[in-house]
Amino acid sequence: MQLYTIETGNFKLDGGAMFGVVPKTIWQKLNPADENNLCNWAMRCLLIEDGNQLILVDNGIGNKQDAKFFSHYYLNGEASLEKSLAKAGFHKDDITDVFLTHLHFDHCGGSIEIKNNQLVTAFKNATYWSNAAHWQWATQPNAREKASFLKENILPIQESGQLQFIEPGKINEPIQAPFNSNIQIIFADGHTDKMMLPKIQYKGYTVVFMADLLPSVAHIPLPYVMAYDMFPLTTLHEKEFFLEEAVAEKYVLFFEHDIQNECCTVTHTEKGIRSQEYFALNNLV
Ligand SMILES: [Zn+2]
Repeated sequence: MQLYTIETGNFKLDGGAMFGVVPKTIWQKLNPADENNLCNWAMRCLLIEDGNQLILVDNGIGNKQDAKFFSHYYLNGEASLEKSLAKAGFHKDDITDVFLTHLHFDHCGGSIEIKNNQLVTAFKNATYWSNAAHWQWATQPNAREKASFLKENILPIQESGQLQFIEPGKINEPIQAPFNSNIQIIFADGHTDKMMLPKIQYKGYTVVFMADLLPSVAHIPLPYVMAYDMFPLTTLHEKEFFLEEAVAEKYVLFFEHDIQNECCTVTHTEKGIRSQEYFALNNLV
């Protein structure tokens, strides 16, 4: 198996929304905000090559929304999905599986593109993986989360016939991925209903793609729960459980949104569980 980091570019989100109840006087020391109170975030995806399979975990914000939509998010950085795939030696048509942690636009926007005025799947040879409960949650959204679920990112996947659902497991009990024996799936309900985090056995390490359970290293301390989360107390419990396990099992945490840090390990400290070592994914040998 080989893992590749797929950077798809950066975007900006309100620092207050990202750090929840933590005051700016505290979070701004390590996470400087711009004049609009926005902090810069990565949209870092993961490519898993295993035998004949090429599995893409999330795919960034995509490029089909209008200028007004993108103007809210200040896209920046040189990376794009296409360029990063090419750098790893691949093309969109090579992808066999697209694993969607959840259907927020910054995670699944690259799933669908516009061709000849039609919304079509960007990965024409891939199976797209989600789960029925999250699909229903996303297609009949509550008013608070509605702006994150864009129907043009979601409905054409189903219409294409390329969508398959994973049967969810219980919270804190990972299930075996139906498409690959080296991958398990952790379910989490705090950020949104039935988010899925892949847990990958790789070169003797266990790498966990954190998605929005821990968007960045800054979110490791327990009170740092995003205001975007639907059920913050659930996130708190899920973080607590996960971090204990991550220390005990020496997990490698892979961050989707941390602009500076791709991966870290965690350890107990007198303040609670904190990051230990920082490194890039390709340093795992
Ligand atoms: Zn999200």
